Amino acid sequence: MSHPDLPQRVPADGLPSRVRVHEVGPRDGLQNEAGTVPTAVKAEFVQRLAAAGLGTVEATSFVRPEWVPQLADAEDLFPLLGDLAASGVRLPVLVPNARGLERALALGAREIAVFGSATETFARRNLNRTVDESLAMFAPVVERARNSGAGVRGYLSMCFGDPWEGAVPVERVVDVARRLYALGCDELSLGDTIGTATPGHVRALLTALNEAGVPTGALAVHFHDTYGQALSNTLAALQHGVTTVDASAGGLGGCPYAKSATGNLATEDLVWMLHGLGVETGVDLGELTATSVWLAGHLGRPSPSRTVRALSHQE
Ligand code: MG
Repeated sequence: MSHPDLPQRVPADGLPSRVRVHEVGPRDGLQNEAGTVPTAVKAEFVQRLAAAGLGTVEATSFVRPEWVPQLADAEDLFPLLGDLAASGVRLPVLVPNARGLERALALGAREIAVFGSATETFARRNLNRTVDESLAMFAPVVERARNSGAGVRGYLSMCFGDPWEGAVPVERVVDVARRLYALGCDELSLGDTIGTATPGHVRALLTALNEAGVPTGALAVHFHDTYGQALSNTLAALQHGVTTVDASAGGLGGCPYAKSATGNLATEDLVWMLHGLGVETGVDLGELTATSVWLAGHLGRPSPSRTVRALSHQE
């Protein structure tokens, strides 16, 4: 007996033919791991992810090093990825503010992301600002990035629930999302930061965003698997027409708000479902899994991804 290495391909109606996986492991994943990985290992990680067919790899974050020690080496790491960028791999980087943007642009970043919150409590805790103040801070960052020819992604966290506020009304999310999009973002990534969303909720938010003037083509989804809902929610988003899905190789990055819970949707779990559905990703699942197993060795703990465990015969 052995585990199959690929899913049986049985297409379903009403789905996109291709999905762009926005790989967040090197940034969102490593940022939330307890251990810190050497810069050379991070560079090899990004290179291996790209070699496995991931065309977008969020590489790092230009935050103040003391805020996120795991990513304090952004200045050293990013230049090591120049060959990848030259070969057409998209390497967005997170920038928290104008200072971070200048650091990123100086190193040649062509895509940046800002990180907003749909709720006041998380905006205050994460950004030390109200939602209004954070949007005011992002406005010149987005404008400057666009004037420099850089693409801009706007993350919106706490779209489906907040650990301090509880339920987050859809109208509340739409209001902040609409304003973040209007700053000039090319794409919004809707974050289920605590993993509580369910598929009807996903559908309701996407529909409400469309009605508020944010087109589906500008929307990405960022699900966490804390409550085991990430793939169900992803399928609901695909059925709505979303074609950009965030995921983290090997499921890197725990859930910062629920100790020992699963956080980011694992890229391998996502790719298994997509390939089973006949949706193209360009990803080689075997190479990707080998990469996650290799990185897990550096982190000293097994990957939480069920697909990685099945394919690598980890128990
Ligand atoms: Mg995440």
